[in-house]
Amino acid sequence: MTGMSAETTTPAPAPSDFIRDIVAGHVAEQRYAKIVTRFPPEPNGYLHIGHAKSICLNFGIAREHAGQCNLRFDDTNPVKEDVEYVESITRDVQWLIAGWADHCLGFKPRGAHPAKVTSNGQPDYYLAPVAPGAGSEAFFASDYFDQLYDYAVELIRRGKAYVCDLSPEDTEKYRGSPDTPGKDSPFRNRSVAENLDLFTRMKAGEFPDGARSLRSKIDMASPNMWLRDPLLYRIRHVAHHHAGDKWCIYPLYDYAHCLSDYLEGITHSICTLEFVDHRPLYDWVLESLGLPRALPHQYEFAKLNLAYTLVSKRKLLTLVTEKVVTGWDDPRMPTLSGLRRRGIPASALRAFVTGVGVTKFDSLTEAAVFENAVRGELNTTAARRLAVLRPLKLVLTNIAAGETVECRATNNPQDENPTTRPLALTREVFIETDDFAEVPPPKYFRLKPGGEVRLKYACIIKCDELVKDASGALIEIRCTAQLDTRHGQPNADKKVKGTIHWVSATQCIDAEVRLYDRLFTVAEPAAEENFLKVVNPKSLEVVTAKLEASLATAKADDRYQFERLGYFALDKDSAPDSRLIFNRTITLKDTWAK
Ligand code: ATP
Ligand code: MG
Repeated sequence: MTGMSAETTTPAPAPSDFIRDIVAGHVAEQRYAKIVTRFPPEPNGYLHIGHAKSICLNFGIAREHAGQCNLRFDDTNPVKEDVEYVESITRDVQWLIAGWADHCLGFKPRGAHPAKVTSNGQPDYYLAPVAPGAGSEAFFASDYFDQLYDYAVELIRRGKAYVCDLSPEDTEKYRGSPDTPGKDSPFRNRSVAENLDLFTRMKAGEFPDGARSLRSKIDMASPNMWLRDPLLYRIRHVAHHHAGDKWCIYPLYDYAHCLSDYLEGITHSICTLEFVDHRPLYDWVLESLGLPRALPHQYEFAKLNLAYTLVSKRKLLTLVTEKVVTGWDDPRMPTLSGLRRRGIPASALRAFVTGVGVTKFDSLTEAAVFENAVRGELNTTAARRLAVLRPLKLVLTNIAAGETVECRATNNPQDENPTTRPLALTREVFIETDDFAEVPPPKYFRLKPGGEVRLKYACIIKCDELVKDASGALIEIRCTAQLDTRHGQPNADKKVKGTIHWVSATQCIDAEVRLYDRLFTVAEPAAEENFLKVVNPKSLEVVTAKLEASLATAKADDRYQFERLGYFALDKDSAPDSRLIFNRTITLKDTWAK
């Protein structure tokens, strides 16, 4: 195969979609001093491949307009959240944007909030790349609890919010249904003074969980259920992982989100389609407060759904707690931590989610689209090596024990100027068990009794004799190496139909190799009543493989193609010099296509 030169590959065109079109329109009319987006995960689990789409969209837009994207933890529900998740999310976002959009990552301003204000009224935050592992410099919705409280007081003063004593069950009953209008709460017309008093006492911890709530006063008959006086605050006597034990009332998502966007000077608040119905509430909260600066606006796109994959933190948590996988970063998990550990480069993930595009319609992306993006990337970057997963020993009888026949192997034929490395052909070599058949089926071009095959980068060998033990089990295959068919030798051009990979039996190293298959047996596990029932029992196979000796120095970030077997990367459980563990990132071909 001839290498593709760098000059002939055209750079990927800048992505284009309906959200980018909207942003481009705003840039053209100079509506904002700076485009500011945010990626707002709730720290209640690890990020997954679906989040990669949102990250690449938000950071991508910031990047294309010399803007800024904030990583903000939407941490308004302390019950399900944890610092472990804050840390993993920070790590995963930094990994995904490293070298691509880390210069757009918004830095949390120190001290008072907001920071400086630009001429058109947007707050101006600092931009600086965050060094991996430097700790979190992210934004937290919980950092705004004081301001959010003050805004709630302002809503009460404006007659737009009230303290309601209905129980959660009654609140639900009063809400009505999409076809029947709701009923006004009997507490809806409390005086401003009474509401202020009760809300202050809610904050002071006078009432138990669920006893009262703060609600917006909008329209109990609205066809949009989200406008039927939605809750703004509820009582929860629990400590918060970031805000500590200062609060016993917590704002609800819809209330906190739009105001967090406003406080950070977000211009485009991009979320997924399930929030379309929340948009009027987003606007209502901001418009009701008479805020002085430009308001953010919400735009929605379709979630990424990938075949054979779950994209829900809650469901992925079940896989962890039920011990279907070894943890959130199990290489079979569609989490960013799992994909990274499996060896998938961040650039491949970005290419995949960008290629899928941004639309307004939910759809299911085929697994092959993802796999091809990964193969496409690794094909150009991964160094080729020889490894044998299920070894079968050959003896090359015309090479003496201890003798070494030097061969050379190409490191990456895709490079513009491919380099080579030495490879030792010795008397004993391992080939793949599958590459030999004592009773070959028709058209079998690999090794068979009396047959010839080429050992890649070495020479053609001929199978002379099978040595069996008393029980008839094959113990050795004796072959002759046709050394004059090596590269540069007189018979180098001799053709045979099969070429197989191999390693020297005396100069190889052992490694544990983990071979992964899809985690689910059905394309839409999320549609199953119980997705635990469609877990693929054969999603992991572990073998002890023989690797060419040069792999002894493999490093965590190295990517390899083990020729004919797929792409591999070192697992984090490896101990250099003592225990090598490789993960198969992906096979060379789509083995599910048949
Ligand atoms: P999950 O159900 O997995 O918890 P979520 O939407 O509740 O997902 P958040 O932490 O709220 O998770 O997500 C952060 C951002 O990522 C949100 O803006 C959300 O819309 C987006 N996001 C979540 N899942 C996907 C997905 N499958 N495709 C694209 N964007 C997604
Ligand atoms: Mg969520």
